[in-house]
Amino acid sequence: MSNCVIVGINWGDEGKGRMVDLLTERYDIVVRYQGGGNAGHTVINDKGKFALHLLPSGIFRSGVVNILGNGVALDPENLWKEMQEVRSKDVEITPETLKISDRASLLLPWHKDLDVLEEKRLKDKQYGSTKQGIAPFYSDKYQKKTLLVGELLYPDELEAHLQDLMEWKNLILTQVYGTEPYTMERLKAWIRDYCEPILPYICDTASFLKKAQSDGKNILFEAQLGALRDLDFGIYPYTTSSNTLAAFAPIGSGLPSARIDDVIGVVKAYSTCVGEGPFVCEMFGAEADLLREEGSEYGAKTGRPRRVGPIDLVATRYGVEAQSATQLALTKLDILSYIDKIPVCTHYLLDGKVIDGFPFPAVLDKAEPVIEYVDGWQCDISQIRRFEDLPQAAQAYVTYIEEAIHCPISFVSVGAERESIIFR
Ligand code: GDP
Repeated sequence: MSNCVIVGINWGDEGKGRMVDLLTERYDIVVRYQGGGNAGHTVINDKGKFALHLLPSGIFRSGVVNILGNGVALDPENLWKEMQEVRSKDVEITPETLKISDRASLLLPWHKDLDVLEEKRLKDKQYGSTKQGIAPFYSDKYQKKTLLVGELLYPDELEAHLQDLMEWKNLILTQVYGTEPYTMERLKAWIRDYCEPILPYICDTASFLKKAQSDGKNILFEAQLGALRDLDFGIYPYTTSSNTLAAFAPIGSGLPSARIDDVIGVVKAYSTCVGEGPFVCEMFGAEADLLREEGSEYGAKTGRPRRVGPIDLVATRYGVEAQSATQLALTKLDILSYIDKIPVCTHYLLDGKVIDGFPFPAVLDKAEPVIEYVDGWQCDISQIRRFEDLPQAAQAYVTYIEEAIHCPISFVSVGAERESIIFR
C-alpha cells in the first residue's frame, strides 16, 4: 500500500493532470482534496483530449475509483456538465468509478454571481478570479453558510436550510450589490437540473477510504493549482481560497489518518502565472509572446493568456519546501527547444540585496529577478524517451535545476501525450 500526493510547485498549470493520468496506472484510487471547477487539467490519452475541471484525472483508467473529497468546492452544475462531456467521448462514469463525498460543501448558484459582482466592484484592483465562485464559496463554507452535499439526500430538511441561506444571501445581493434576489423556484429548478442527477454518486467516501486503507489499496491524492496559490503559504491575497499543499490532502480527502509516502511536485521548465498579483520573473514583449505561443499558454478554463517567464529558482525552491516534495516531475521541457540561451531566474534583488529566499508577499512587488543564461539545445526532443538520449545541454538544464532546488527530478515530460515521458 502507498499514498502519494501530486501537487503543483508554482502558480498552477504545471501539468499535474497529465502526471496523474500517467501515474494512475499504479493506483487504485484518485482523490481530489481541494479547490473546485476553476482548475483546468488538460489530459491527452487514448480516449482523446480533455480539459478536466472538477473530475479527478484518474477517470480514464478502468478499475480506478475517483473521489471528490470533502475539501472540494462541489459545483453540481459544472460537475454534471463535465460528466456529460467526458462521457460523450466514451469514458464510462458510474457510481463505482466516481464517488462524491457527502461531506463536501455545495457551491451554490449565487457564489458565481458574487464572484463576478465583487470583481466588477474592484475594477482595476481585481484579483483576477476565474469567476467560478470559489472565494465566495469558501468564505461561506467557513461561515457555515452553505450546504453539505449529503443534505441533498434529505429533501425536506434541505429545503428549510436552503430557504434560510437564501434569505441571508438575498440581503447581501440586494443591499450590498443592488441585484435581484433569488427565489426558491429558481433554486428548486437548480436542484432538479443539476443536483438530482448526481445523487447516485454521493456517499460516505470517508468510510470507503478507511476501508480501502485497511485493505492495503494504493491512493493518489490530486491537487489543484500550486504551492504559491496556497491560502496560508502562497502570495496572499493573490492565492486561491483553499489549501493546495500536500499536507492538506489527508484532511481534504476525508482520510485524516493517511500517512503520505511520496509527494510528487510538478514543475514547469519555465514559469507561467494566470491572473493578477506579483510575478517577479515575468517577461514582457516579443520574448514573452514567443514563449507563450510556443507553450500554448492560454488558460484551459478561461482562455486567458498566461503571464510567462523563465524558471524561477527562488519561488520553485520555496514551493518544493512548502510541499515537502520527495521527487519532481519537470514538464514542458520540449517547449524550450527553440531557445539559444535559456534564461533562468536564480535570485531576487530586494532593497539592493541579492536574496535566494522567497520574500513575504507584501514586499514581492519590489523584488526584481536576477537572470542568468544557460545553453539551449535547439533541436526537437519530443520523441526522446531515455534521459541519456537527450542532448547534453538538455541533460545539463535538468541537473542544474535539480541541484538548485534540492530535490530529485524523476520524470521529465517532453510532450502533452501520456507516453511523452522520460523516467529517470
Ligand atoms: P494542470 O492544471 O497542472 O494539470 O496543468 P494544465 O493542464 O493547466 O496545463 C498544462 C498544459 O501543458 C496542458 O495543456 C498539457 O496538455 C500541457 N503539457 C503538459 N506536459 C507537457 C509537456 O511536457 N510538453 C508539452 N508540450 N505540453 C505539456
